[in-house]
Amino acid sequence: MIIQTVNELIGRTPMMQINGYDLPKNTRILAKLEQFNPGGSIKDRLGVKLIDTAFKEGRINKESTIIEPTAGNTGIGLGLAAMAYGLKLIFVVPEKFSIEKQELMRVLGAEIVHTPTKEGIKGAVAKAKALGEKIENSYLPLQFENPVNPLTYYETLGPEIINDLDGEYPDSFVAGAGSGGTFSGVAQYFKEQSESIRTVVVEPEGSILGGGEPGPHETEGIGVESFPPFMKKEWIDQVYTISDEEAFYYTKELARKNGLFVGSSSGAAFAAALKEAQTLPAGSMIVTVFPDGSERYLSKNIYK
Ligand code: PMP
Repeated sequence: MIIQTVNELIGRTPMMQINGYDLPKNTRILAKLEQFNPGGSIKDRLGVKLIDTAFKEGRINKESTIIEPTAGNTGIGLGLAAMAYGLKLIFVVPEKFSIEKQELMRVLGAEIVHTPTKEGIKGAVAKAKALGEKIENSYLPLQFENPVNPLTYYETLGPEIINDLDGEYPDSFVAGAGSGGTFSGVAQYFKEQSESIRTVVVEPEGSILGGGEPGPHETEGIGVESFPPFMKKEWIDQVYTISDEEAFYYTKELARKNGLFVGSSSGAAFAAALKEAQTLPAGSMIVTVFPDGSERYLSKNIYK
């Protein structure tokens, strides 16, 4: 197969059965390996859809500047999508996020604007909106409120999972929430297929879905400061709040036991999938998502 652009490599990621852990008899945990997208994360799917939709709706032209608050992966996805059009890019990134992701955004031509870590993603959103008011012909995709975000995963990830399973339905779907786009889109898709599929959300400590207060955490890419506008309470059958310690423990286990170099949000998702496995009848099938790879977090000592 010869491809013409890397964007042809987005999606159709592998699904892997995660073996080597103590599970009830015949219970399986399967993970979608999203690091195999060309920009290295689940957010490549979103970047392309945001840019294509904005063009289709006449919101941008080739002279536009895209401004987006991001922890990095959405920025990289937007950068890949914008390449074909030569769009200008400004990404607003809270300081704490990994240098590697910032370097990847920069090499795609993006200007990075930092906001203080303590202002959280809300601070980055406010800064992006302020820049948008000053810069002519700018467009803010605003992944944290744009319905195109869950729609991307409703249209791609949900159907792909069923296809990977040869048409079978999982008993439970487990996914982390940062913007909540991945969880919301796939949860909606699965609930429409069958009400009996459990849809379960994963967050770090310092995230509000389980009723806690917003606060700091080291697990990167997940964690919600306010309830996402496109997430529906009825899609949440369960919330698992995973400590940083547990997330990083399983991130390392997945490397050592399974050869999977995944990021800490994948470790958190796997920790939650293991808990879910213990609550379901033996023989259940649990599908989860590993959103990105560990190599973009080596400067943050992900394996320390
Ligand atoms: N993990 C990582 C590494 C991410 O970058 C993101 C997106 N911020 C997520 C998980 C969560 O995805 P979503 O925004 O769709 O909830």
